[in-house]
Amino acid sequence: MAAETHSRRDDKVANLTIDFWQGGNSSAYTTSGWSGPEHIGCWTEGPAAHAELAGLRPGRPYHVTLHAGPYLAPPHVTAQRLGVRVNGYPCFNGTLEGPRKLEFDIPAGAIPPDGKASIELDCPDCVSPLGLGLSGDTRRLGFSVWSMALEPLAEPQSETAPISGPAMEGGTFRFRAAGVCPLCEANTAFVAERDDALAPEWHMIWFRDRLRCVNCASIPRERTLFWVVQKLFPNWRQLRMHESSPNHRGASLRFMRECQGYVASQYDPVLGFGRQHPSKDYRSEDLEAQTFADESFDLVITQDVFEHLLAPDKAIREIARTLAPGGAHIMTVPIVVESGPSRRRARRVGKKVELLAEAQYHGNPMSGEGSLVTVDWGYDIVEYLAAQSGLAVSMFCIDDVTRGMRGACNEVLVCRKKGAVPKL
Ligand SMILES: [Zn+2]
Repeated sequence: MAAETHSRRDDKVANLTIDFWQGGNSSAYTTSGWSGPEHIGCWTEGPAAHAELAGLRPGRPYHVTLHAGPYLAPPHVTAQRLGVRVNGYPCFNGTLEGPRKLEFDIPAGAIPPDGKASIELDCPDCVSPLGLGLSGDTRRLGFSVWSMALEPLAEPQSETAPISGPAMEGGTFRFRAAGVCPLCEANTAFVAERDDALAPEWHMIWFRDRLRCVNCASIPRERTLFWVVQKLFPNWRQLRMHESSPNHRGASLRFMRECQGYVASQYDPVLGFGRQHPSKDYRSEDLEAQTFADESFDLVITQDVFEHLLAPDKAIREIARTLAPGGAHIMTVPIVVESGPSRRRARRVGKKVELLAEAQYHGNPMSGEGSLVTVDWGYDIVEYLAAQSGLAVSMFCIDDVTRGMRGACNEVLVCRKKGAVPKL
């Protein structure tokens, strides 16, 4: 990838370099999670460090060069994990055992029309020298950052190459398909890459989280959900939309930025249900017992949420209650039981959670521990949701690689509340 991106560098747009050394320009960009600049650079302090950039070219991809080194104290700390997100798009993830020059790209779709970029360095392994008994320094140190440079890349060219692979090419097992991305609407390519070859029966599972749009970094289920919303509710920008547990990427980012009546909610019992977070862009809601008034929304979106609910029956009834007539709940949920009925993996007994199968977790933006999988859904989810809610439930199963909609568990469910019926 590196050789390909370097050849695309665009010299007509100014570069931006942030120097974190003492006397550098970093204080104009750093906002929270940083110790002051020192002669060797600037330490990140705590689990996340933020920087705010402005004046970037909207819709333009950027190449980033970041010089950083982890705080190390062998034998206690011999490496630290680092994640970099730009406007919520994951751009880098790795483990550093010493100072390194990191290079990665910001996808074009990450820079919105206002040209602003919020850069977040996630430092989950940060640790204080005091906590290790090494000195009186109480700062929870992650990485010493020396410099970060952003170079704009040329706008992505239309892709004309047809489908290639999956096949080994120069040490990488690669699949590539040219097409149009439903999410960023670019002529683009959908690419999946890994180090070793996979047998054909695993390709669809591999694509699920890895078949990325080279322009916006979206994955298949995000594109498919967005495509279904766009087809059924082309006026979604003007509608009242509630999205439960969005992940600051993919389809959620477009809804968040473009839908006038967009409300995001997260399960945050500490904040208190029904309350807007004072600094973050969500309201705390329990999907199974919502505080929204009846018929508040035209669209409710959930992406891979229903496999984590202890009371999916209550949740779908609550969603039905909050939908206006003619509105719909549109969701992705992994259908993992290929034949046979849905199976519960965990249930609520009193105030406790009882495991009925080995505990399985998926990533959760609100918690490092991940979310427990409570139900292995089968195709009978359609009957289940309809019976519990009275909504008319249909399932979209789309396989269209020219739009990057290919992968396992790519189904989209549409649960409609009765509204106007076409007069034919
Ligand atoms: Zn895209």
